[in-house]
Amino acid sequence: METIETSVVVVGGGLVGSSSALFLAWRGVPTVLIERYPGSSPHPRAVGYRSRTLELYRAVGLGSVIPQTPPNMVLRRARVESLAGKWIQEEAPWSPPEKDEAKAIEHSPCLGAAIAQDRLEPILRDKAIELGADVRLQTEMTAFEQDAEGVTVHVRGPDGREYAVRAAYLIAADGHRSPIREALGIGRTGRGFMRTARSVLFRAPLDEYLRSGVSQFNIEQPDLSAFLTTYRDGRWVLIFSDDRERDDAGLRDAIAKATGRPDLPIEILTTGRWELSALIADSFRSGRVFLAGDAAHTLPPNRGGYGANTGIEDAHNLAWKLSSVLSGVSTPALLDTYDAERRPIAWLRHDQIFARSDFKAFATTEAPHGPVFDDAAMELGQLYRSHAVIGAGAELAPARRPEQWAGHLARAHRTRGFCAAATKRCPRSISTSMAGSS
Ligand SMILES: Cc1cc2nc3c(=O)[nH]c(=O)nc-3n(C[C@H](O)[C@H](O)[C@H](O)COP(=O)(O)OP(=O)(O)OC[C@H]3O[C@@H](n4cnc5c(N)ncnc54)[C@H](O)[C@@H]3O)c2cc1C
Repeated sequence: METIETSVVVVGGGLVGSSSALFLAWRGVPTVLIERYPGSSPHPRAVGYRSRTLELYRAVGLGSVIPQTPPNMVLRRARVESLAGKWIQEEAPWSPPEKDEAKAIEHSPCLGAAIAQDRLEPILRDKAIELGADVRLQTEMTAFEQDAEGVTVHVRGPDGREYAVRAAYLIAADGHRSPIREALGIGRTGRGFMRTARSVLFRAPLDEYLRSGVSQFNIEQPDLSAFLTTYRDGRWVLIFSDDRERDDAGLRDAIAKATGRPDLPIEILTTGRWELSALIADSFRSGRVFLAGDAAHTLPPNRGGYGANTGIEDAHNLAWKLSSVLSGVSTPALLDTYDAERRPIAWLRHDQIFARSDFKAFATTEAPHGPVFDDAAMELGQLYRSHAVIGAGAELAPARRPEQWAGHLARAHRTRGFCAAATKRCPRSISTSMAGSS
């Protein structure tokens, strides 16, 4: 059987796998990405990307390619009878309101973006390919094994041909059902399953209802409870609170009720069925295999964008560490810090979801009400605690706004050296930014 040799193999070509390949390729790490489908799912999920994510993409040359949107454009939500009908009330803000002095601070050169997942994924894949990644679509991982020297991933390509990819490390970005996580026997903990929801994706000329800046709508009618939002390209998604199957007429009837515009032409594009759950893997690493994205942490859709954005930050954290170890600058001990740094962030975000108004009703002892941290803290001021970071003690808060750290960062971010050899160029101070490292 043919075997392809590379440094890192990524399984999964969604937002997180594509970002992993992109960040690795940008650092010159030979990478093969395996994705079983020919392209993105016709039913996008994510649309909201935060400023930290945009910073990471900007650093690899995508700054001018992804159009930016002020974050409050994707964070405002209202309770309405229908788009054209009565607007009952705007929901409580996702993040506590900022004080005037905080508002005046420009924390980041990036805002955020509202772009559908099926438009962003090709941008990421194309850039990864341009930078040298070997992206193999319609290629399915059928099995994998690891030994002391590396990992072997068995795949079946588009023509049915079977071959193997041999690499030093494997990134499992294979989604919330993660066959790799399951094969490794890594369990998950957290609030767990909440409900199953169905959705319909449709095209309709409804942009006039976005003028107020609200883009997410909880539809409240006696016989329709649903959530309506837009991908800002003429496509809208209606997510039903129930798991009832509806035929074409039933879907059209629900769309007409939710929009309050039965007169408009509607094109139904596709439907979806989603499990809403909150589960964090008990370990993000097993030997030479690293879990990233939904494989590591599945969180329900929320106004903080704690799904894809958290996974993209995993990918970035892992990419620079793998690059550093593979190039011999750092010892493999650096890789232990991935789980130590990223798993607590996943838990922090898990708990924030249930501490805030949208999901408070789902809070349990596994998902307790906790203190609410503001968005700038969650986005740009999360603290990493690992043996690579000096001074990030238990007395420090898990997240604060960048200006509130008041010098802690200068100390906390001086990292221990992981030099492979004294003769190698090894920066004593690896700047470990709050919501990601570089
Ligand atoms: C309705 C909804 C709205 C959301 N909105 C947002 C949002 O606005 N912002 C946000 O941050 N998050 C959002 N999320 C969450 C976000 O969509 C996910 O967190 C994100 O898409 C996960 O990306 P991923 O790459 O980890 O996994 P996935 O997108 O699930 O990708 C996994 C990939 O692995 C591939 N794969 C699996 N097994 C194999 C195999 N054996 N061989 C080859 N390939 C394989 C799959 O085909 C798939 O393409 C939303 C979620 C939902 C349900």
